[in-house]
Amino acid sequence: MSEAVATSHLRENPYELARTQLEHVGEVFGIEPNLIRVLSHCKKVVEVSIPFQRDDGTVGVFTGFRVTHNVARGPSKGGIRYHPDVTRDEVKALAMWMTWKCALMALPFGGAKGGVVCDPKSLSEKELERMTRRYTSEIINEIGPERDIPAPDVGTDSRVMAWIFDTYSMNKGHSVLGVVTGKPLSVGGSLGREEATARGSLYCIQALAGKRGQRVDEYTVAIQGFGNVGSNLARLLHAEGAKVVAVSDSRGGVYNPHGIDVPAAVEHKRETGSVVGLAGTDAITNEELVELPCDIFAPCALEQVVHAENADRVQASVICEGANGPVTPAADAILEDRGILVLPDVLANAGGVVVSYFEWVQGLQEYFWQEDEVNAKLRDIVARAFEETWQTRERYQTSLRMAAYGLAVQRVAEATTTRGLYP
Ligand code: GLU
Repeated sequence: MSEAVATSHLRENPYELARTQLEHVGEVFGIEPNLIRVLSHCKKVVEVSIPFQRDDGTVGVFTGFRVTHNVARGPSKGGIRYHPDVTRDEVKALAMWMTWKCALMALPFGGAKGGVVCDPKSLSEKELERMTRRYTSEIINEIGPERDIPAPDVGTDSRVMAWIFDTYSMNKGHSVLGVVTGKPLSVGGSLGREEATARGSLYCIQALAGKRGQRVDEYTVAIQGFGNVGSNLARLLHAEGAKVVAVSDSRGGVYNPHGIDVPAAVEHKRETGSVVGLAGTDAITNEELVELPCDIFAPCALEQVVHAENADRVQASVICEGANGPVTPAADAILEDRGILVLPDVLANAGGVVVSYFEWVQGLQEYFWQEDEVNAKLRDIVARAFEETWQTRERYQTSLRMAAYGLAVQRVAEATTTRGLYP
């Protein structure tokens, strides 16, 4: 294990995990080994250095990546992550997972991901803007509406997307709405995009409740991460009558077994920058949050938070993966033995890229939809993918993750075979 990996939140190399998962899918679903071999590689990995001027006049230099995993089903799609622990192999794994996610949702996209090794919280707004614009310039030949379309991920937001949109457009000489999604509404964003990832998770939880003859307002939920996904999921579940018993962010967590006042938590985070210290709650750590008694545990932050060492202490009966890769394969096996159901990332957090697809379509047509329409179409797509995944799980007697990946990989494999190997 390299030093970079040992000191970060990554306990294992995510790209190796993603490739092992793919091999397993190949065996379970009987997919041609030649195809699995092709799909276990990323089509293109671009590494750039990003020099930019700091406010004090010195020059900082960051490392950035943009990885395209696959384009068999269409242009590649995936977010850009700003985080100090970003590694090339992490971005490659995340790109591969985007290929599966887009295919499972039946979107006409392949998978990609970008990342910059940096702590965005330590940069001023102006530094963030200069760094983002330089990163965009460095990858300008990789991205484009028909080629590769970035979006927000951990550490980036609609502001960052606006700078990417503007930098790309200035270079082309005209506004190119389709180059990036997750943009602010004022420059061609889509209604509903901001909360779409959480909304997709909610639709999965509702579909699961339907299968089990339960209601969402009977559930207690612990949510790790209070960024875009975690905070919106807390808000939506709270509005549906579920009891949110714990929330957290990178500074720590808060717990109240009788339920947290979610709007107050949102306000507290806005005022203080963290959920820590919220009135009427007990302080807990992010590690403790994973093991709390509740019906649903929703990891909505980083990868590998449920692993071989803590999976046997998870008390939730369902894990809803708002983050990408929060459960390691070793933990998956333990959870399955214990009868804990995992709603896998490619299904449970796909709402974001689904509405990104809607944003891309709206941008290309310069015709924008009402929010109700966005949400109704999102629900249709997520509900259909949930049902297909559920049926595949029954048919193959496997986990929801295997079923979801199986469906996705088969779709990408079919597109690859139909197109044929060039030349
Ligand atoms: N970063 C998000 C994800 O992991 C969104 C990607 C997108 O909208 O393209 O799904």
